[in-house]
Amino acid sequence: MPQIRTTPVQLLFMYGKAVEAVAGKGRCPKCWATEFAFKCFGCQTQMYTYPEPDGAGMWIFDVDKARELVGDRIDGECNPDVLIHGLGETEAGHEYCLLKRANAGKLPPTKGPVGIMARMGDDGAGALIIDGTHRGRLCIAAGVPMPIAILTQAEFDAVLISRPPNNVLAVQQAEIDRMTRMFQKMDADLFFAEMAAILGRNEVASILNTQQPDTLAPGDQ
Ligand SMILES: [Zn+2]
Repeated sequence: MPQIRTTPVQLLFMYGKAVEAVAGKGRCPKCWATEFAFKCFGCQTQMYTYPEPDGAGMWIFDVDKARELVGDRIDGECNPDVLIHGLGETEAGHEYCLLKRANAGKLPPTKGPVGIMARMGDDGAGALIIDGTHRGRLCIAAGVPMPIAILTQAEFDAVLISRPPNNVLAVQQAEIDRMTRMFQKMDADLFFAEMAAILGRNEVASILNTQQPDTLAPGDQ
């Protein structure tokens, strides 16, 4: 492939199209993205986003930083009745993947916390599970508590990328920043080969020829 200048926005747009296409073919996009990330970027980065119920914006957390900060620390257990209220949107398809892998003995052994909790609000009353939501759902189904690490206020502040009030641009910007870091580490040949396999060469070329896809231009009103 000839040398082409690309922007993170173009790559992110292409990557988003690939995720959609994978889902459209009946594969689990989360498993595809995880496998692809390790193959192509040598690592995986994750954000957790949670919409404020009153529509004032999104809570956005850096999950990698949270994992790094808590390490193997376990601060307590979260009971199923509390878990039910602290989990964001479900991805039942991926939970099925986890069960299939567990059944086949392919889940790696875990150490440390199964989930990470962020306490929300000034009184810390609201609780959100920012890592381990799928495992959390399995705990609810099994009726067993989940061992968790609870972020301290300093840790909470360190992993919070954006908070309400904000708007959809905050999420797009956080996603662009996250993927820009990934793209800097990527194996470009492998990336474009996989994109071409999923989207077709014509679609890849057409995205690369588009300077700034409107749907993802930050600040574009
Ligand atoms: Zn999956």
